[in-house]
Amino acid sequence: MLIHRLAIIGVGLIGGSLARALKRASACGRVIGCARSVGGLEKAVNLGVIDEFHTEVAVAAAGADMIVIAVPLGATAAVFEQMRDHLNDKAVITDVGSVKGTVVQAARRILGPHMFRFVPGHPVAGTEKSGVEASFAELFDGHRVILTPVADTEARAVQQVTKMWEQAGALVEVMEVAQHDKVLAATSHLPHVLAYSLVQTLARVEESEGVFRFAAGGFADFTRIASSSPEMWHDIVFANQKAILTMVERFNQELAILVQAIDANDSHKVMEVFNQAKAVRDEFSANRLKHIPVANELISH
Ligand code: NAP
Repeated sequence: MLIHRLAIIGVGLIGGSLARALKRASACGRVIGCARSVGGLEKAVNLGVIDEFHTEVAVAAAGADMIVIAVPLGATAAVFEQMRDHLNDKAVITDVGSVKGTVVQAARRILGPHMFRFVPGHPVAGTEKSGVEASFAELFDGHRVILTPVADTEARAVQQVTKMWEQAGALVEVMEVAQHDKVLAATSHLPHVLAYSLVQTLARVEESEGVFRFAAGGFADFTRIASSSPEMWHDIVFANQKAILTMVERFNQELAILVQAIDANDSHKVMEVFNQAKAVRDEFSANRLKHIPVANELISH
């Protein structure tokens, strides 16, 4: 068995799905869950996602050989603090946070001499739903997980976390921390900022025009991710503020080009932008379908 005692700190969509996927693969022994609310943890036990729970991080982490931190980014530093003095000698720690720079900074500051056993990670898979009820074993099948080990990270720890994610069905890639945050700002964080902002724009128009009655597939496709957890996205935008603002600026420049072409009745330019974008999107869809066997409607984070 790969993991004897698995501690999942934060048994929500991601933590719960990982526990389910590892159980599906018979890759772990006992699964210990931890969160603040007992109600959610009891639900997780009833659903068979975890075997037991504790509300204190220190107790849940003690004795675990693999600890996965799957809480909102803003809670990660406090979780490091609560577990730091209660780690077993062989424990490997990893996380699933959508931004890596701030997590690595906090880990360096708080974990100190335990830093070698921490493997920063991010599964590039998710849905707009939250909580253990939304978790499912197939979430990571065929999706990428990015690990961003730093100079002090021990190779053994990286190997163990890699094996864990492979057992959960994912494809593991290693990337530099800064590169991760830049890439995700473009592919995930910008689309979420735009989706929230588009819905907000239409909500204001709704007051005078009643537009939502006429909203159809295009609106639904573009804005599904605006149903994602506001708490989670609040933490992400501040944790990756600089890279996100750079991408928003680039988006504004592209939008300005299109707006100017529309304003100037420049049909050649409008067709050029639409054709180029369609070609890129079509190629992306074709490649994606090749790699992801199930749940193609799920969007990556
Ligand atoms: P979620 O469904 O809301 O689950 C979060 C879990 O963390 C809940 O069980 C919550 O339970 C617990 N929690 C919150 N604060 C805590 C604290 N201070 N101490 C202990 N437990 C705490 O969230 P999620 O979607 O799984 O996201 C978790 C992490 O995964 C985030 O960092 C996010 O950036 C990352 N991520 C998310 C996605 C996605 O699509 N959702 C994809 C990739 C990565 P209580 O409220 O009862 O404490």
